[in-house]
Amino acid sequence: MNRVLPICVLVTVLITGWLYAQPAPIRVRLFSVEQPSEVRITTPDGQTVLLDAGKGARRDTGKIFRSDGPVTIVRARGEGVRVPYPIEVSARNGALVIITELPLEDYVAAVLAGESSGFRAEESLKAMAVAARTWAVHFLNRHKTEGFDFCDTTHCQDFRVTALSTRLRKAVEATSNEVLRYDGRPIPAYYHQDCGGITEPRAPYLGQLRDSFCVSRGPSKWSAELTSSDLRSALGLTEIYGIEVVERTGSGRAQRLRITGSGSRMIDAEAFRLAIGRTLGWNKIRSDLYELRRSGDHFIFEGVGAGHGIGLCQTGAAVMGERGYTYKEILAYYYPNTTLAP
Ligand SMILES: [Zn+2]
Ligand SMILES: [Zn+2]
Repeated sequence: MNRVLPICVLVTVLITGWLYAQPAPIRVRLFSVEQPSEVRITTPDGQTVLLDAGKGARRDTGKIFRSDGPVTIVRARGEGVRVPYPIEVSARNGALVIITELPLEDYVAAVLAGESSGFRAEESLKAMAVAARTWAVHFLNRHKTEGFDFCDTTHCQDFRVTALSTRLRKAVEATSNEVLRYDGRPIPAYYHQDCGGITEPRAPYLGQLRDSFCVSRGPSKWSAELTSSDLRSALGLTEIYGIEVVERTGSGRAQRLRITGSGSRMIDAEAFRLAIGRTLGWNKIRSDLYELRRSGDHFIFEGVGAGHGIGLCQTGAAVMGERGYTYKEILAYYYPNTTLAP
């Protein structure tokens, strides 16, 4: 009887099973804002390749380069960036699409580098690791139609592959594979810089919370004076005479604004904040928790907090960690009714 055949079948089944058990790597687009059209890449064998979005792209796939890494990528401006993972480069609309592939746990560590390297307490960092991992698992495939999972900006999560450290990796390892679940499913684990004292409710696990922890750091007040010319350029309008909050959320955040110019139009407050951030800088309208008045040609915004206010408040989580709360207690506070499980 032929014994080789059953052994071959068994080996094939085992290898296939093992391959399926391996989680797919996370695909992150690098330089998503800058979108360079030309880069120089140094490969592991010391060769340098010049890539130009206008030249050398294969017509069928647009792919022009692939390496298992590590590589160093040099753009026209800025320092060389060492990427210790495989990369794949294609060209689209005159720009290079540079995608790196890395394990989920490494992605979480690089997000911690971008989003919370300022945390002093290890327990706060661990809470953020779980939040960032849960967010990633929930929003995986966010950019699927573009051929990657996440961009490297705060549109997804701020990703700093060059700022990985042993401390960040330890926070990730200490919470390895843990995600927050509600009804068995990973939640959209939103987080933000500072809730200003009250979080914005969205779901049973993203409730409205009077956050005494962040407030104990002192008020996170901000104010911004914008001229109608600032607003015109940010919103792409030709005339603006007035702007007012016409609707607020349960937590008091601006929800909808009415802008009057040659006509009257409504705009979502978050879309307004993002438009101002992109064009005039992120230090102007820092949150949606503000009052707004007109003074001559100026519109004066006076607010508290930073970010959308949903889910974990990073200032509050930092304070909790410094006061000795565990990461599980921090997560239970900001994401009530959830369970922590692989
Ligand atoms: Zn994104
Ligand atoms: Zn807070």
